[in-house]
Amino acid sequence: MRKLTADWIFPVDGPAIANGVLIVDESGKILALEKRENQDFGALEYHKGSLVPGFVNTHCHLELSHMLGKVDTGTGLIPFIVQVVTKRNVATELIAEAIERANQEMLDNGIVALGDISNAPDTFMVKAQGKMRYYTFIELFDFLQDAGADKAFHDWKLVYDQLELAPGSAKSMVPHAPYSVSPSLFEKINAFNGSLQQTISIHNQETPPEMALFMDKSGDFIDFYGSFDVALDAFQATGQASIYYALKHMAPGHRTLFVHNTLTSRADVLAAQAWSPHTYWATCPNANLYIENRLPNYQVFLDSDARVTIGTDSLTSNWQLSILEELKTISRYQSYVPFEAMLRWATLNGAQALGFADTLGSFTIGKTPGVVLLENVNADGGIKSDTRVRRLL
Ligand SMILES: [Zn+2]
Repeated sequence: MRKLTADWIFPVDGPAIANGVLIVDESGKILALEKRENQDFGALEYHKGSLVPGFVNTHCHLELSHMLGKVDTGTGLIPFIVQVVTKRNVATELIAEAIERANQEMLDNGIVALGDISNAPDTFMVKAQGKMRYYTFIELFDFLQDAGADKAFHDWKLVYDQLELAPGSAKSMVPHAPYSVSPSLFEKINAFNGSLQQTISIHNQETPPEMALFMDKSGDFIDFYGSFDVALDAFQATGQASIYYALKHMAPGHRTLFVHNTLTSRADVLAAQAWSPHTYWATCPNANLYIENRLPNYQVFLDSDARVTIGTDSLTSNWQLSILEELKTISRYQSYVPFEAMLRWATLNGAQALGFADTLGSFTIGKTPGVVLLENVNADGGIKSDTRVRRLL
């Protein structure tokens, strides 16, 4: 048994406790949460700072870890995608080493669960070690070509079948983005995932050309597809934001994780939440700055009681894989977002989005959420620009 105490403890499922004591067993299971004055001080392990549950990273592409620093910043999404496609193929050993390093970096930064996009089986060896809980999203796209849906589904089903799940982990087949998945492919994905509740991730409203494509079939995606000799003859603009196309074709019974949402309006958030009570919003602020040099308007999400989660995206579009660094970026640019709201996004909301809240996301008795120390915090336990993270359990 360990008795951890710190200046502040944030259980996330209840109010913060000043000078609290967190009692855990050998396996890291939470046994009790108490006040320090009821305890024998000599039996306590004291840490200066705040104790928070392990972080949940709901959006990453671990298989793109080898492109750290290789793709230009600030170009916008389409030039970014072109650079990823042309630069992602390197020697298998380099890809494997980078994945291993990135996985360790996340563990060191207090991340205990990961929602990870996979197009290929490169990360499956690391995931089999089970050092955190992984929700692997096998990601499908057919460039909006109904005729390509069969082949896309068949090819990625082979990848899906190769992933052997470590205990506590999960997998599903998911659509890449509104601008890259045909109605036929959405149908196949829905049929495959069935009626048992899963988590489905989709990139959403990330770039102005995505908007233009759906509003009036204009913008840079037309030329982008043209450069691959992909004709969009059958595609018809909907006259609405891209998310409505996704809502029309996705199954509302699953937990749905909309990722990025830099252009999502209050009306869009409310429409998605009316469509399904299992709607989550993953924000990846550093990646949004890296790729598009823009951020979502978080006030929209706060006003709508939206369940926001935090993602790092991959090392191709970020400088590190750290949830704390994502929270610092939110604080720097939209400092009105309260620390405790962000902490919930980074822990319990993420655990719920991935279906992992049975063990993760809060200091609830009986859970094994991991224990993370935030050092160099402000007087009420919140983060500052030079706060550091250290994993205790
Ligand atoms: Zn992504």
